Amino acid sequence: MAKVYNWQLGREMDYRFENGPAKRQFAAVFNINRCIACQTCSMACKSTWTFSPGQELMWWNNVETKPYGGYPAHWDINILELQEKANPGGQVWNTGRSDPVHAPYGTFEGKTIFETADGVNNMVTGYLPAEEDWKVPNLHEDTATAAPAKGVSLPQHDGWFFYLQRICNHCSYPACLAACPRNAIYKREEDGIVLIDQERCRGYRKCVEACPYKKPMYRPSTRTSEKCIGCYPRIEGTDPLTEGLPMETRCMAACVGKIRLQGLVQVDDRGEWLEDRQHPLYYLVHVARVALPLYPQFGTQPNVYYIPPRWVPRPYLRQMFGPGVDDAIEAYVNPSRETLAVLQLFRASQRIVFSYKIEEGPKLGEITVAGKVRELFNDTVIGFDSEGREIVRVSVQEPAIERPGQLNSI
Ligand code: SF4
Ligand code: SF4
Repeated sequence: MAKVYNWQLGREMDYRFENGPAKRQFAAVFNINRCIACQTCSMACKSTWTFSPGQELMWWNNVETKPYGGYPAHWDINILELQEKANPGGQVWNTGRSDPVHAPYGTFEGKTIFETADGVNNMVTGYLPAEEDWKVPNLHEDTATAAPAKGVSLPQHDGWFFYLQRICNHCSYPACLAACPRNAIYKREEDGIVLIDQERCRGYRKCVEACPYKKPMYRPSTRTSEKCIGCYPRIEGTDPLTEGLPMETRCMAACVGKIRLQGLVQVDDRGEWLEDRQHPLYYLVHVARVALPLYPQFGTQPNVYYIPPRWVPRPYLRQMFGPGVDDAIEAYVNPSRETLAVLQLFRASQRIVFSYKIEEGPKLGEITVAGKVRELFNDTVIGFDSEGREIVRVSVQEPAIERPGQLNSI
């Protein structure tokens, strides 16, 4: 095992390989607060990549209802239990020592899925889901923890559920890659997308077993494993719509709730994000710290970040997103002027936004949130492509558009 630095854990950890060669990393922020579980993202992905024989149970993008739902069933509970069994009582964070750049959530003092494995027979602690676990992608849809006795109110609801949108995280330290005995899985230097070489794969399903997020899936008709490919032709800009420029994936571009913002971030040799203050994802993850990784304690350094749901009890969220939850919810519920503007970029363009700037607008009024009076401004956020050209311009206040009396000619 090599020693690599995992900034989400605030420490070095064991991994099978040295740091990978990725210079640029596929990343995204999902705002859980806005998802309506319409499954348009799931269908956009399925109708593009997994509509063929043998792929019937394959949902590279799925949206499940927490706390009871999961695809495959109970994927997260199962791996959390395995980790707890391997390190009883030790899966804890030390938040006393944090560093805004290299250890923003403190230090994880427990063991990752690489560190609870023996490193000889197994590179990763994991399990193979049973066949029936894959059968129902959205079991327990909309099932709440309890019927609220007297209605619900913030900051935490007594009966609650929320939707969790899941794709492959194109992890910086992929468990699937570390576990493959055929070395059939690789991470691309140009965008950090993790792919399974279908020629090399022999269907041993070690990746299915190892991925804690259970995102590689076995295809019986070809006897190989497959996974989300990050819509790499779109990222490469080969879709004619964007004239050679990087374009967001199908699941992101189709999102009805406008919860998703995708991008490519620059990373250094240690897998840490290079400072890029005007990059919207850098801003949301590293400056505003409103978006957090899913189960960072697994140790794969996932690259999809979530704005946690503000109505859910904090202990549940802390075990899922780590100790940054309280600050992230505060930053979302009481957003700064800049955060409010950057949030308008979600789903504003199919082209990938590489930087933004904000034009200040007039004061709209005042509102009271959580007992605090806040001023609201109609600022405009402008997004730029990889060449620095303006591709989108959105204001905080949505324009009111009056329809003409005569709607259409039918
Ligand atoms: S989410 Fe799973 S399949 Fe995707 S890169 Fe990470 S370990 Fe591999
Ligand atoms: S398309 Fe967007 S809003 Fe609809 S389920 Fe997917 S993530 Fe949620």
